Amino acid sequence: MVLEAQGEPLVERELPRPELQPGQVRLRVRTCGICRTDLHIYDGELPDPKLPLVLGHQIVGTVIEGGAAFAIGRRVGVPWLGWTCGECRYCRSGRENLCDRARFTGYHLDGGYAEEAVADERYCFEIPEGYSDAQAAPLLCAGLIGYRSLVLAGDPERIGLYGFGASAHIVAQIAVSQGRHVFAFTRPGDDAAQSLARELGAKWAGDASVQPPEELDAAIIFAPVGELVPAALRAVRKGGSVVCAGIHMSDIPSFPYELLWGERVLRSVANLTRRDGKELLALAPQIPVHTTVETFPLGDAEGGLDSLRAGRIRGAAVLMVESGRISR
Ligand SMILES: [Zn+2]
Ligand SMILES: [Zn+2]
Repeated sequence: MVLEAQGEPLVERELPRPELQPGQVRLRVRTCGICRTDLHIYDGELPDPKLPLVLGHQIVGTVIEGGAAFAIGRRVGVPWLGWTCGECRYCRSGRENLCDRARFTGYHLDGGYAEEAVADERYCFEIPEGYSDAQAAPLLCAGLIGYRSLVLAGDPERIGLYGFGASAHIVAQIAVSQGRHVFAFTRPGDDAAQSLARELGAKWAGDASVQPPEELDAAIIFAPVGELVPAALRAVRKGGSVVCAGIHMSDIPSFPYELLWGERVLRSVANLTRRDGKELLALAPQIPVHTTVETFPLGDAEGGLDSLRAGRIRGAAVLMVESGRISR
């Protein structure tokens, strides 16, 4: 399913099979998670994608050709971070997520809304046993970015999650397993998301427009809504952190300095490092994190994107690519 121009519907196309470069693997795609970032690319909120482009950066696939790190037939995951230079100041200081020349899957490189995909094996992960193809896919971005955001939120006893979708439903499980109290904020009246949050152990779930019953130590904002920044700062105690986890957000309205005063910290989280991926994929099966997914056939990628845009997905949206199989 190909994006030929931003803002235009995906079209079904036969593309030429790319020739493998050294270090690349060819995968038969089994599933591919649908991410909010895919919508930002589709809608033109993120500039200059490769065009035409195959979206999708939460790929679960089987190695069918090439590579040295993974045997043929191995099940691997391909995340958003597709390539880094290894030379810039960020790469050399363990911050490859900030690489000046990074290339991202499903943005600069063709991704997983396709029957086959090609990836640099150095950026691929082993998928933990015990996860079906559909349930593993959301770990690869929603899980990774959420995990990185949680780490950067410090060591909060009470953590707020603004926007209870794919990322938050994974982060909530990790946070609860660490003994933290989770407060879930959703769109007004989103009973499905609020009930999912409570099922996953949230202490409180409610509308993002209201103040939580307790003062928070930190908050992570997953929804791409700038208005949530002052709202989250207002909910966080002195010295607390607000982490913006999305790659794009609507403009942040001005707010009184008083909301930031008291050594509150406001920061963003950008992309992922391979270390984040290894840590999360080792941690998830131990907890264990269970992902809630809604699946769509590859040919209905538009339907999946529409549902995500409309806030109709409970948990994470996943494309089922391998024909006729509903995961393991
Ligand atoms: Zn670099
Ligand atoms: Zn993503």
